[in-house]
Amino acid sequence: MKHFVAMICVSMGIFVLPMMTGTGFAENLPSVTILATGGTIAGAGDSQVGSAYKSGAVTVDILLQAVPEVNKIAQIKGEQISNIGSQEMNNKIWLKLAKRINELLASDECDGVVITHGTDTMEETAYFLNLTVRSKKPVVLVGAMRSSTSMSADGPMNLYNAVSLAASQEAVGKGVMVAMNEKISGARDVTKTNTTDVATFGSPNFGSLGRVFYGKIRFYRESSRKHTFQSEFKTDALEDLPRVDIVYGYANNTRAMVDAVVTAGAKGVVHAGVGNGNPYPETMEGLADARGKGVQVIRSTRVPSGRVTLDAEVDDAKYGFVVSDSLNPQKSRILLMLALTKTSDPKEIQRMFFEY
Ligand code: ASP
Repeated sequence: MKHFVAMICVSMGIFVLPMMTGTGFAENLPSVTILATGGTIAGAGDSQVGSAYKSGAVTVDILLQAVPEVNKIAQIKGEQISNIGSQEMNNKIWLKLAKRINELLASDECDGVVITHGTDTMEETAYFLNLTVRSKKPVVLVGAMRSSTSMSADGPMNLYNAVSLAASQEAVGKGVMVAMNEKISGARDVTKTNTTDVATFGSPNFGSLGRVFYGKIRFYRESSRKHTFQSEFKTDALEDLPRVDIVYGYANNTRAMVDAVVTAGAKGVVHAGVGNGNPYPETMEGLADARGKGVQVIRSTRVPSGRVTLDAEVDDAKYGFVVSDSLNPQKSRILLMLALTKTSDPKEIQRMFFEY
């Protein structure tokens, strides 16, 4: 007879769910640790059909109670890292997550990590970890577009698929991934494309890596960019990251926002330009002056797909600007923050933007 035992140490934020199957304890299953950070997947509302809810309202042990099947694919341990809407995500939590994942994956007792996370900034956390986790073992982010109390909540199936992926051999060495709505997406390329649709995550430039359907995994491609075990970035000893701000481009723009972030102490500015990363003339003057003060400038684009190419309509070599290649502005910001922990040479930073 199947028998399920739960030991929950909520006060420590740590719990273990050993499972006894018809054949005994599932000791030979891979070990997957779930790090919970909050988001809609852990959200709750008053009505099954109301759109109002609070992100990060339930803890990871409650989430897992909705998916007891995960205990048939992995030995699950969990830790509550935070319980926030991911619009509140910050450098401190990123650094804490990277450090904890590096500790966990260095041990023989952990075969993979799943991070439950809000969808708003999931792509940023995924890319940050893609550059700072130093292991080949799978790291998978998962969330939901419908809260845990919603009709047709998508969290339980997403979580089941994410644990399957983190426990799988096929996922080893693929870098940090997002598992949502049956898609396996690579951290570098994935982005949130719709405000409310459960099929929100896409990879507009190069497509997703594969599919996960009721826990069955199929990969179709890999990213050729460096990640995780190949990364040169080390953050375990850091307490914070250099300040980098994003300035949005549009017609009839001014230089006011560029000047404001430079005055506020930004060490770098990512300009989400129009088209192939073009700034409005007055904004361009602000960017050139920022560069003159030693602030790094990345030319990215507000266009959802395509590359920003060197020396097209802007003379990057003359100004010492760096192009984002195919990284969107929010991920360019992450790579620049990490780059600035190592160098302030724009040529070196450009190399990083072409390699990661
Ligand atoms: N605001 C929520 C969050 O990112 C949305 C979600 O999880 O889907 O935490």
